[in-house]
Amino acid sequence: MGAACSSISKSKVPTKEQEKLKKSKIIFVVGGPGSGKGTQCEKIVAKYGYTHLSSGDLLRAEVKSGSARGKKLAEIMEKGELVPLDTVLDMLKDAMLAKVAKSSGFLIDGYPREVKQGHEFEKKIAPASLLLYIDAGAETMTKRLLKRAETSGRADDNAETIKKRLDTYYKATEPVIAMYEGRGIVRKINAEGSVDQVFEQVCAALDTLK
Ligand code: ADP
Ligand code: MG
Repeated sequence: MGAACSSISKSKVPTKEQEKLKKSKIIFVVGGPGSGKGTQCEKIVAKYGYTHLSSGDLLRAEVKSGSARGKKLAEIMEKGELVPLDTVLDMLKDAMLAKVAKSSGFLIDGYPREVKQGHEFEKKIAPASLLLYIDAGAETMTKRLLKRAETSGRADDNAETIKKRLDTYYKATEPVIAMYEGRGIVRKINAEGSVDQVFEQVCAALDTLK
């Protein structure tokens, strides 16, 4: 993160970008590891032109940079645990502010992972318009992740960490879905089928936003 970006996000006077962000279309894309969030987001970007931000990808980029913060993050992620709330939120906000001038909306992939993350995001950035719940069973997710492991090079795509990530997901993230269901913005997508079958449902959900 550049110094300029963090000074923007901490400034008390809202900038033009911050004002625009508050009015942007924001879609949370939530689902377990390997449910197909990234795959569907790529297709959404191609069809709808939204900006895709994966919290996991932002964090992995930080790890790859070799920074001190990256080293701490690597330890947490290899254990299958969640990274501290403020770290993820700051990274997301900076990435969003950098893109907001040219963006018609944002896909926030893999966030919120826990109820508190959802509250903080909406307090500090903007309210979400929709939550796409990419729903696949544990068996399907495990199978996909083990297959992804063959090419992903991700340190957390191994049998032991996958089990922990699924456990973290059910404990921390399922309550997120319940919370937004209460607000009526959840669209549940059956993610057991082929990529195209899943995408058909995703489009139907997104088309309600227009
Ligand atoms: P996530 O971002 O939710 O962790 P990914 O989009 O990376 O999940 O998908 C995990 C793996 O499963 C990838 O290797 C992807 O190619 C594969 N995959 C995604 N969606 C499907 C699907 N509907 N059917 C079969 N494989 C899928
Ligand atoms: Mg992903």
